[in-house]
Amino acid sequence: MQCDICGKETQLYLTEIEASNLSVCSDCSKFGKVLRKLVSEKREKPKQNVIKQEEESVEEVVENYGSIIKNKREKLGLTQKELATKLAEKESLLQKIETESFEPSIALARKIERILGLKLIEEVKEEQINPIKDKNAVLTIGDLINIKKR
Ligand SMILES: [Zn+2]
Repeated sequence: MQCDICGKETQLYLTEIEASNLSVCSDCSKFGKVLRKLVSEKREKPKQNVIKQEEESVEEVVENYGSIIKNKREKLGLTQKELATKLAEKESLLQKIETESFEPSIALARKIERILGLKLIEEVKEEQINPIKDKNAVLTIGDLINIKKR
């Protein structure tokens, strides 16, 4: 077990220092109020909900997929039937896709991307920041340096 403040390997005490519970050695426990002597090897785990940042990315088919496919297909000199055959899909389905009356699935869009060599899928990132700030948040290194100076 190591002291949270000075890193010394010794007997630790669970000490409340500036509203945080730290496992510190007897010297560093002077900076706060000792709650109890630590006997087990288990350290107090920092709260999980301190500042949680989740990033989720969602794949979406681009908005104007129909005209993108149509333009590229015509550039390549492919008929709807030829492209449908390459995709192993029905010509009627490709027609619907090109007129944007049917949005292809991500899997199908990927297939079209591969065959035509274009980009149909965009990644939309959703950032979620938990606004709840934990009062018992672990002290920053700066805080610890200030404690040491005192
Ligand atoms: Zn210490």
